[in-house]
Amino acid sequence: MLRTHKCNEIRAGHAGQRVTLAGWVDSRRDHGGLIFIDLRDRWGLTQIVFNPTENPELHKLAESLRSEFVIQVTGTVKKRPEGTRNPKLDTGDIEIAVEKLTVLNTCPATPFEIKDDADVSEEIRLKYRFLDLRRPKMLKNLTVRSGIANAAREYLVSQGFLEVETPLLTRSTPEGARDYLVPSRLNIGTFYALPQSPQLFKQMLMVSGVDRYFQLARCLRDEDLRADRQPEHTQIDIEMSFVEENDVMTVVEEMIQRIIEKVKGTKIKIPLPRMPYGEAINRFGSDKPDLRFGHELTDISVLAFQSGSDIFKKVIAVKGVVKALAVPIGSYSRKDFDELTVLATEFGGKGLAWFKVLNDGKMEGPLAKFFPGELQCKLIQQTGAKPGDAVLTVAGQNPSASVALGGLRVHLAKKHGWIPKDKLALTWVTEFPLLEYNKEEKRWDACHHPFTSPEESDLTFLENDPGRVRARAYDLVMNGTEVGGGSIRNHRMDVQSRLFQVLGIDERAAQQKFGFLLKALQFGAPPHGGIALGLDRLVTELLELESIRDVIAFPKTQKGTCLLTEAPAGVAPRQLKELGIQVVS
Ligand code: ASP
Repeated sequence: MLRTHKCNEIRAGHAGQRVTLAGWVDSRRDHGGLIFIDLRDRWGLTQIVFNPTENPELHKLAESLRSEFVIQVTGTVKKRPEGTRNPKLDTGDIEIAVEKLTVLNTCPATPFEIKDDADVSEEIRLKYRFLDLRRPKMLKNLTVRSGIANAAREYLVSQGFLEVETPLLTRSTPEGARDYLVPSRLNIGTFYALPQSPQLFKQMLMVSGVDRYFQLARCLRDEDLRADRQPEHTQIDIEMSFVEENDVMTVVEEMIQRIIEKVKGTKIKIPLPRMPYGEAINRFGSDKPDLRFGHELTDISVLAFQSGSDIFKKVIAVKGVVKALAVPIGSYSRKDFDELTVLATEFGGKGLAWFKVLNDGKMEGPLAKFFPGELQCKLIQQTGAKPGDAVLTVAGQNPSASVALGGLRVHLAKKHGWIPKDKLALTWVTEFPLLEYNKEEKRWDACHHPFTSPEESDLTFLENDPGRVRARAYDLVMNGTEVGGGSIRNHRMDVQSRLFQVLGIDERAAQQKFGFLLKALQFGAPPHGGIALGLDRLVTELLELESIRDVIAFPKTQKGTCLLTEAPAGVAPRQLKELGIQVVS
């Protein structure tokens, strides 16, 4: 080894020992002839000192050192003189009096300082990712990520799970996104699809008797990218045989408990709360409710129907609802409410109506005139609004009316800092609808994926009232973010065939798309179910970071490009010819 210790290891107890360290020049300070350098590696910093009176030649060499040079030093550990200790540094009690210096490599001026708070654009950071990752904060993110992956692996292995790798070059998988395609040279005109998830393979592994499978699996989806999406992401992918919902959830809860203990040092209480989808929508206006703060929605339909508002009455007459949200924004101006109205429509609402509650407990604002006397008191009481609050209301069909208000709830909480720091709020959301109606295509789509099992007691509605059928699916939600989702699968072909029919996937199409899985299911498939947790999101949430890109070593931009490697890139005409491909346009 080129070193005896790492840069965060040496303490006052090592005083007098001769040590060798290696790392990067973090900073250099010249003080009255002495040169002080903070030497940095992944683990931390150690101060090293060059004294001109003790070794003029060495001191001269040290003068030539610049930031980010790679050096190796040998010297004696000294306690720092009284008054010069640095309590902020693990190694702040000592320094190394250097006796030997080797410059292992030089470094030109870097495009930004290798400091946590360096003022640098994300574009430059991604272009020089190898330097960006050298910053302590980024190395910490990678360390935590690795710790989480290890905690998951250790737990799952201890529970008898087998880690099995599934192919990257495969056929289209059913997660509902666009596939990345890879042309086959040996079979001109045919394509592999990169897996959107190992879904079909993990189910086949259950047919094979693997019983308990996991994989830290890379999933590739060619989607338009949003802030928390990447074209490739990593899942902690799990599948189990002879299980029901509760068994899968218990395994995940225990695993998450260990992960959080490792990262945060706190032991969360399990079992986690479970909330049916309908309740999540009604109370929080979201299927991934953020439970770190209150401000729940209320249903004011009954009072709204008695009000003088024709709009409310019309909506309720066609089985709609009027939902309300009381929030402490009584100081908002008309313009502020206009802005909220625009937001509400962006969140899918038909509009926004509001009123304020004055100090004397009376209503003021556009809605006030529709709620005379007694009705006004009842309304304020029902929404739980206090003097100084404003009440926002959205009328429409559920879930969209609730979802619009739920969007405002989260928006306002972030804007006004209502979300307590350091709080972790986890919940399961269960009893999702199995299918959702696709208005544009005039057909039913699977909410999760087409292999999700319907609730046994709802099977009778499958053909006549598909929207009523609940799925045996469950999502894990952390602080308002979905960090995982899974389901119990259809292990019997009769149910699977009925579901395909409702989804408009005819026999031929089913055979063509997933014939291999359907065949496997016929050969004695055990009851099975599973889940996948998004590793990137989990790490981002636990580290309380804004961007998923900060926990991925080499992420892509919103446009799906890698600024470091400049992928995607053109290829040589010869390569295209070999693949029988011609690029038009
Ligand atoms: N394959 C699913 C997904 O990627 C997860 C699961 O159902 O296990 O979302």
